[in-house]
Amino acid sequence: MPAAHTYLDHNATSPIRPAAFDAMVEALQAGGNPSSVHRAGRTARARVDAARRQVAALVGALPAEVVFTSGGTEANNSALAGAGRKRLLVSAVEHDSVLKATRGVEIVPVDRNGLVDLGVLEKSLAASAEPALVSVMFANNETGVLQPIADVVRVAHAAGALVHCDAVQGAGKVSVDLHGLGVDYLSLSAHKFGGPTGVGALVMRSGAPFVSDRLGGGQEANLRAGTENVAGIAGFGVAAAEAGGGLATTEWRDGLEATLLEIAPAARVYGMGAGRLPSTTCISMPGVRAETQVMAFDLAGICVSAGAACSSGKVTRSAVLLAMGVEPAEAETALRISFGWSTVSEDIECLIAAWRDLYIRVTDSDMPRARAA
Ligand code: PLP
Repeated sequence: MPAAHTYLDHNATSPIRPAAFDAMVEALQAGGNPSSVHRAGRTARARVDAARRQVAALVGALPAEVVFTSGGTEANNSALAGAGRKRLLVSAVEHDSVLKATRGVEIVPVDRNGLVDLGVLEKSLAASAEPALVSVMFANNETGVLQPIADVVRVAHAAGALVHCDAVQGAGKVSVDLHGLGVDYLSLSAHKFGGPTGVGALVMRSGAPFVSDRLGGGQEANLRAGTENVAGIAGFGVAAAEAGGGLATTEWRDGLEATLLEIAPAARVYGMGAGRLPSTTCISMPGVRAETQVMAFDLAGICVSAGAACSSGKVTRSAVLLAMGVEPAEAETALRISFGWSTVSEDIECLIAAWRDLYIRVTDSDMPRARAA
């Protein structure tokens, strides 16, 4: 990424932390298969074990509860398939890697602030004796809204259901505690907080049922066959250790939102009535499509995102905002600004200046037409 860019798209991916990068280079240079008994193998095994302790510490888990995966998507898919429950209830604002993981999921609605409806969850669970798995994310990737996970766990466990929580956007940004929350399964992804892409973890409470659909060697205590991505895991561990030591405050987000709302009082911050990640703002620019905004900001050297960054690069209408009751035309004007470990206050100032410029340019160019009418 060119240094001249202002990067405010950490929820898509965070730049790699230098210490994580160094750990990866070291691991790649050293080589070794963690399953080999000789010296090179033992060294690689030691790296994986160290990273396992670091990742476990980030989420208050035991090292033995961490299973490394190829990222958040695999962790989500594996949890939903491996828990062995036929009935799956998921919130309406989950990431596609949960929503599309399997057919026939039951959707639990959210309110205007994007919070899962616990009453509906409770009633739905009571409606069938079939043992269920409930999957509700920790923090939303588009709005940053934090779900009441401890309450979800209380309701679900009382009904005999297991709970999976996609904590891909929460971990490394705010405190996430597997046992404190009481969840059975937790998904993590390294690249959302300064580790590499292509590595993550499924963290499982000791004793939580799990059957792996990966057949092969006995890696990861027989829970995820395949030679470990040693370098990726080493980078993940270092990023987890660094992220755990520097969790974000709300100061920049609140200042940014207050300024943008001053510039455009008709703008709307989504999920403002709920607890949110301190590093995420999802805000509309009245009358300006998000695609136009993203392109204009890109020309100004600023990387931000319109709704969810989908793999095809195409901007689709945000299902998350629609689930929150936002009108489709308005949802198309929503921009996601997300910060992270490498963000400096100048980045926010730069975004504010570009946002003001674009808004004034668009509203000014509308004015003559309005006067002529
Ligand atoms: N879950 C959430 C909430 C996400 O935001 C993402 C990535 O955008 C994922 C899961 C998928 O993670 P990964 O990119 O590691 O597969």
